[in-house]
Amino acid sequence: MDDTQREALRAELLDRRSALQQLLIGSADSTEAVEIDNSCQSQLSRIEAQQGQEMARATRARWENELTRIEGALRRMENDEYGQCFVCEEPIPFRRLQNDPSVTRCVECAESE
Ligand SMILES: [Zn+2]
Repeated sequence: MDDTQREALRAELLDRRSALQQLLIGSADSTEAVEIDNSCQSQLSRIEAQQGQEMARATRARWENELTRIEGALRRMENDEYGQCFVCEEPIPFRRLQNDPSVTRCVECAESE
C-alpha cells in the first residue's frame, strides 16, 4: 500500500466516522426509554412501540460498534500498524481495505474464524 492509497483510506475512515457520529447524535433521543402510555394504547401498539425501540437500540449498537472499529483503524494508522492482519500479520490486500477500511484480518483469517 502506498501513501496515496493510505490517504484515500484515511479520508474514507474520517468521512465514515463523522457520518456515524452524526447518526448517533441524531438518534440519541429515539432510544431513550420512551414513556409508553398504558392507558390509551392497545396492547398491540405498545408491542409495536417496544419493538421500534428495540430496533433503534440494535441499530445504534451497530453504529457504535462500527465507530469503534473505525477509531481503531485510525489509531493503527497513527501507529503505522495499519493494514496488517491481526492474526497472521500479513499485509491485508488494498482491495479488501478499500471495501471496508476498518477490517482487521485478511480474508483467510477472517474466514477461518
Ligand atoms: Zn491473516
